[in-house]
Amino acid sequence: MDQFRTPVPGTFDGGCLCGAVRYRVSDPFGAGYCHCETCRRMSGGPAIIWAAVEERRSVLISGSPLVYRSSDRARRQFCGACGSTLFLLYDDLPGMVLFATGSLDEPERLPPRFHLWTSAAAVPVPEDGLPRFPEGLPAEAFAIPPASAAPGR
Ligand SMILES: [Zn+2]
Ligand SMILES: [Zn+2]
Repeated sequence: MDQFRTPVPGTFDGGCLCGAVRYRVSDPFGAGYCHCETCRRMSGGPAIIWAAVEERRSVLISGSPLVYRSSDRARRQFCGACGSTLFLLYDDLPGMVLFATGSLDEPERLPPRFHLWTSAAAVPVPEDGLPRFPEGLPAEAFAIPPASAAPGR
């Protein structure tokens, strides 16, 4: 699981489609596709690539994303003006922010390393050699207590 929690060094800027919301993160890790139904419906596409960053290494530069509680343990943030998916916050992952790498200015710097929720994929998952998980990521991926983990929904 080390490959999942090894940070990608550096600062990354991102924002929504209309530019109202801008953010900056440093040393993110754990970039991976999520094919779950919630991500599919929220994005309108087959998957979202999420990456994790410590909250203290993330800053909202402008704008105020709206919040939607997508499950009893997760909230999702998006731009109220253009609808762009931006952040995912788990109640049981305090201090951690997941952000959609598609909102980065240079997403190619943070390539996905795995697929989650392949059991729910709407279209065939590409044969790209990346590890696949039928459901959420194993707890150890985020180096947090096992009882509090499994991002995905
Ligand atoms: Zn926007
Ligand atoms: Zn998902």
